[in-house]
Amino acid sequence: MAVIINGKEISAKVRLEIKEKTQKFIDEKGYAPGLAVIIVGEDPASKVYVNNKHKACLEVGFLSEVYRLPAETTMDELLSLVDKLNNDDKIHGILCQLPLPKHLDEEQVILRINPDKDVDAFHPINTGKIMIGNNSFVPCTPAGVMKLIESTGTDICGKECVVVGRSNIVGKPQAMLLLQKNGTVTICHSKTKDLKEVTKRADILVVAVGIPNFITGDMIKEGAIVMDVGINRTSDGKLTGDVDFASAEKVASYITPVPGGVGPMTITMLLENTLTAAKIQSK
Ligand code: NDP
Repeated sequence: MAVIINGKEISAKVRLEIKEKTQKFIDEKGYAPGLAVIIVGEDPASKVYVNNKHKACLEVGFLSEVYRLPAETTMDELLSLVDKLNNDDKIHGILCQLPLPKHLDEEQVILRINPDKDVDAFHPINTGKIMIGNNSFVPCTPAGVMKLIESTGTDICGKECVVVGRSNIVGKPQAMLLLQKNGTVTICHSKTKDLKEVTKRADILVVAVGIPNFITGDMIKEGAIVMDVGINRTSDGKLTGDVDFASAEKVASYITPVPGGVGPMTITMLLENTLTAAKIQSK
């Protein structure tokens, strides 16, 4: 039976470390790292995420500003807020909660954020830096997955790593991070032929597909580390991952549950990126 990785516990430990580093930063510089979060419209899930980010910032001692804009906000209004925050010395990280209402262009907003303040690491400058292995920030979810793999004490070097999913926010940066640690990395997607044959080779399997219980135990190598990024809501309102936990835990050596695995790490990594941003901008 696999060891269940407790993302909540690991996240709490990392947050405590961030809190200590933040106090040290405040003592040295005389000001706190500042994060501004922009939310446009009334998407319920986004509202929950933004509230959680705000709370997490306050807990570690950051300055936290939340800009709640109405759904009918224009592109010009949104971009001028980004410009204002780009020029605000108290703010070191800017995040625009996605998805935006349909009439707004997400790509333009991402491009407008100063790459030094882009704590989501979605700006092409930051995604390019991940590609060349010279990154200041890493997208929060893949960064959290790396911390959880690290928590198992496993050396990624030389391991067969398979990432299922190739989105810009999870799959692709995840693959680059595993490659930076000298993993032998394969990326799978919806056009992959014989997915099982590929996933069965993985010593480390990261799944970010968005289909409940998509990866079953028979697709997993005996002793593999399985990281389930998926967050899916079932018809009865429960959260479930992309991995069929019951069959997977019988073959894996380590596995993340949903909820309580990768999810709690994402905001923690946002805090880490914001502290990094404040340090970079203080130089
Ligand atoms: P996307 O929808 O952007 O990407 C899904 C990926 O899965 C695509 O690359 C797609 O391939 C691939 N895929 C779809 N069907 C198959 C299939 N049959 N076989 C193999 N690959 C397939 O999703 P995200 O990456 O944004 O998110 C993935 C999951 O992770 C979601 O459940 C999401 O909610 C969750 N998530 C969790 C976070 C957290 O904090 N824990 C943060 C972000 C996301 P193709 O490119 O060919 O279409």
